[in-house]
This record gives sequence, C-alpha cells and structure tokens, in this order.
Amino acid sequence: MGTVAFIGLGNMGAPMARNLLSAGFKVQVYDVVTEMAKELEALGATRCESIKAVVNSVDTVITMLPAGAHVRTVYLGDDGILQHVGGDSLLIDSSTIDPETARLVGLQAHEKGISFTDAPVSGGVAGAKAATLTFIVGGSEQDFSKAEQVLRHMGKNIFHAGEVGSGQMGKICNNLMLGILMSGTCEALNLGIDNGLDPKVLSNIMLQSSGRNWALELYNPCPGVMENAPASNQYQPGFMSKLMLKDLGLGLEAATKSQSSVPMGALARNLYAFHNMNGNEELDFSSLFEFYQSQSKS
Ligand code: NAD
Repeated sequence: MGTVAFIGLGNMGAPMARNLLSAGFKVQVYDVVTEMAKELEALGATRCESIKAVVNSVDTVITMLPAGAHVRTVYLGDDGILQHVGGDSLLIDSSTIDPETARLVGLQAHEKGISFTDAPVSGGVAGAKAATLTFIVGGSEQDFSKAEQVLRHMGKNIFHAGEVGSGQMGKICNNLMLGILMSGTCEALNLGIDNGLDPKVLSNIMLQSSGRNWALELYNPCPGVMENAPASNQYQPGFMSKLMLKDLGLGLEAATKSQSSVPMGALARNLYAFHNMNGNEELDFSSLFEFYQSQSKS
C-alpha cells in the first residue's frame, strides 16, 4: 500500500480518509480547520500543517473540498499542490465543482508532467462511511486505471466518464436529478400529510409504486419515517442545503453553455435558494421538506 495525502476532512473527506487507513494506506491529512484532522490523527494518520507538508513524498493526493474556488486555491495557489508535489504523484479531486476548473487544473498539472483526474462522488455520508461510494472519473485511460487502485477502497462503483472534466459533468447531471427528486418527494409527502395520510404508510405505498426514487428509499425527508436519515436527526448533514444549491447552480451554468433546457432544475435551484435564504443553508438538503410544511394551512 502506498502513501496518500488527503486534503479536506469534512462530512465526506473524514470517513473517506478513515477507509484508506483501514485498508492499510499510510495517510497524511490536512484541513484548513485544524480541529478536523485530530480524529484521524488519533486513528493513525499523520496530521500536517500545510499543503507543502501534506503532499511531501506521497504517491496519491486526494482533495475533498467545498467548491471550485477552494480547488483553484488548493491546487493552483502560490503555495498550492502543483508548487510542491512530486512529478510521479497522481492527483485526484473528488469535490463537486465546475468542469472548467477541473480542466484548468488538469491542464496546468499536465504542463508540469503530473497526472490529474476529477473523481466526484455520489452516495452521501452513509456511502462514504461504508466505502460504497460511486466515483465518476474524468481522465486518461492510464490515469483512470491508477486512480481505480485507490478509489476502490472508498467506493463500490467506479465509472470512467471520459477525459478530465467529464467526471464533473456526470456528477452535475446526477445532482440536477437529485435536487428535482428531493423537491418532488417533499412535495408528494407533504400533500399526503395535508390530506390525512400517515407519511410512513404513504412512503411504503410509493416505495412499491412508480414514485419510487433514491430520496424516498434511502433519505426520506419526513422526520420519523426513517430512523437513520438526517430528517430524524434535526436535519444534521449529511449533505448541506448550500452544497445542493451550488450543484444545481453548476447544472444551470452547464445548461447555459450548451443551450439545454432545464426548467425542472431551474425550479429546484430556486426552491433551494429561497430555502437557504431563510437560514437553512447549513442543514441537510432534505430539510426542504420544512419549506413545504411551512406553506401548509395546518
Ligand atoms: P464540508 O464542508 O463538510 O467539508 C469540506 C472541508 O474542506 C472542510 O473541512 C473545510 O474546512 C475544508 N477546506 C476548505 N477549504 C480548504 C482549504 N483551502 N484547504 C484545506 N481544507 C479546506 O463538505 P462535504 O460535505 O465534505 O463536501 C465536500 C465536497 O463533496 C463538496 O464539493 C460536495 O458538494 C461534495 N459531496 C458531498 C456529499 C455529502 O453528502 N456531503 C455527497 C457527494 C458529494
């Protein structure tokens, strides 16, 4: 097993790094918020104080950061990864960001002879903890094969979507769909409750009917229906509403460039913008259910 540098130890990054430790990798960790690295240090990771230190003598660098701006700073900044990493390291960015930033980082890495892949994930915190994530990878065949050797210790399904940037495009399409599905699931459950149905009974009915979908099956947004869902834990993330708003925005940006029609995605994006403006941006994205509840008469 080789040495991995892991940068960004939030809701997703920390359990992903934990799985690499369990698999036997030597793991060096860094987060701009020092506290985030302490738990991993206690589990055997080496906590580093800078990007320069964390990428020193590693085979692979994995980043799991909030958005494109963070990725640009961490890779391309004056003190960023590309300034310090060795030429034979493989760089993997698993954040969900715009494909243009992924291509820019890929190009600048390539110019220095360094391999880069974008590898955003699906599966949420539960998938990160259980090492069952889906990785959607963009990069050359050769880099994909190398990345797969590490990613398979954190995920179950690893797809090669195409060249650098394609992983992000695949992920953006998925999350456009997820935002729409979550909005629709909240809407249908709230309609049933307003008309006297028990949300557990209604959820079971829809799970065996044509309304079945991922949000309903694994992430029910109505409190008390599903014990382990964020809805039953005061909507603690999970996947924050502000990150869903970011992802739906990425979908709309991509649609503007390709002149694609995305009326459902635009509606879901506006619902989340409204929901976040009401102070819910740090709550799990399934808290959109509360928006529907607040619009009901009783
Ligand atoms: P998070 O906000 O919990 O974690 C991000 C971490 O990055 C934080 O610990 C933060 O301190 C750190 N960070 C920010 N800037 C940094 C910098 N300059 N240097 C080092 N560390 C820095 O977010 P998350 O939920 O873990 O999500 C990470 C990415 O994964 C996002 O792009 C998100 O859209 C995507 N994602 C999240 C989920 C989910 O369910 N949470 C699912 C799939 C994809």
